[in-house]
Amino acid sequence: MTKTLDFSDTKIAFADKTDSELRWSNLLFSLMNNAWLVRLGSRLANWALRVNLPVEGLVKKTIYKQFCGGETIDEVRSVIHKLGRSGIKTILDYGVEAKETEEDFERTAHYLAQTLEFAREDEDIHIISTKFSGLFRFGLLVKASSGEALTPEEQAEFERGVKRVDRICRAASESGIGIHIDAEQSWIQAAVDEVAWEMSRRYNQGRPIVINAVQLYRKDRLQFLKDSLSHARQHKYLCAVKLVRGAYMEKERARAAEMGYPSPIHDTLEDTHRAYNEGLAFCLDNLGEIYVCNATHNEESCRLQAELMEARGLDPGHHLVATAQLYGMSDNLSYNMANAGFNVEKYLPYGPVREVVPYLIRRTQENTSVGGQMSRELKLIRKELIRRRREGA
Ligand SMILES: Cc1cc2nc3c(=O)[nH]c(=O)nc-3n(C[C@H](O)[C@H](O)[C@H](O)COP(=O)(O)OP(=O)(O)OC[C@H]3O[C@@H](n4cnc5c(N)ncnc54)[C@H](O)[C@@H]3O)c2cc1C
Repeated sequence: MTKTLDFSDTKIAFADKTDSELRWSNLLFSLMNNAWLVRLGSRLANWALRVNLPVEGLVKKTIYKQFCGGETIDEVRSVIHKLGRSGIKTILDYGVEAKETEEDFERTAHYLAQTLEFAREDEDIHIISTKFSGLFRFGLLVKASSGEALTPEEQAEFERGVKRVDRICRAASESGIGIHIDAEQSWIQAAVDEVAWEMSRRYNQGRPIVINAVQLYRKDRLQFLKDSLSHARQHKYLCAVKLVRGAYMEKERARAAEMGYPSPIHDTLEDTHRAYNEGLAFCLDNLGEIYVCNATHNEESCRLQAELMEARGLDPGHHLVATAQLYGMSDNLSYNMANAGFNVEKYLPYGPVREVVPYLIRRTQENTSVGGQMSRELKLIRKELIRRRREGA
């Protein structure tokens, strides 16, 4: 029997936060709640960085502090240990995205190797995360995903990328550290999946080392999840997946409309929820052959995980099931799930301020008001501030 989960328990959710930290988050999320301010801020931040205005300090003291661990590995250490004291493991992410030159890709690979080194020595980190757009040229991933034949030069470039990925996965495997491969835009995903499957075949021998993301906002991904398991069965490895709904909906729909093909994204939010729930149940039904990370900020998805696990007689801390949330968001889920004995992970980006700006912009956009409603985070923070005032805590 699992401990009762109460996601409205903000006392547990924010036990780590001092009053002043919470007041600061309140101010920040209140600003982010304002859609036009976020639009303006995002444009200004992009422009200021492009023309090399020295705005890094300002960004670092504000949204960066809320969503990222620090610029260097040494800076993130205290955040990781604070999470660890609450039973939460870290998924460490060196936050680079969309690079273009071989030199950049090698640098990303170098930082990933360094992150792995650090993870090996710290038991609070057991997964690192990567985006292939930081390791391969985006245009190359697009072409490789389109089915069009690569030229011999492109083929050689692709193979260099695969070697880079292999180096990282092999090092992860030697250290027993997992590696999340983020899902990105659908038009590069076929190439990402192909490499992810090959790496899984090489390194997931009974352990979840290579963990591929499945975006269930896509109409074809339930089938892809089933195909992933078939591939793993056929090649005798553990199928390790991170389930997400998906973060590129607007871009996906805009591109589909512009280029005149049917949108790959479910037509309604309900369809996405249905696919997500089905995907989660499928993974838990095949646990043992599948490792699953339920990566979500949706309270119902966390509750569903608990219910499905209990119905199948699975211990909340089963080694093949985890839930993950982003650092700085949904602490009510992470801390209450950890408190009830589930395996909980926080995705913690680190790296130079300039590099993580696209990530920060996605986070601010996620936290703006929808239809005039206060964002999920802001409601929780205000609830806790009121509780502390009332209880004189
Ligand atoms: C630890 C972690 C790792 C992540 N890794 C990735 C990753 O690798 N790749 C990635 O793309 N995203 C990733 N995400 C982001 C994720 O995909 C979601 O954008 C985000 O978590 C919000 O979805 P949710 O499950 O929390 O649920 P909710 O907030 O309940 O759902 C919002 C999501 O539903 C979908 N949606 C919203 N409106 C509609 C609509 N009208 N029709 C159809 N679908 C709709 C969208 O996917 C939207 O993001 C990650 C999230 C976490 C917590």
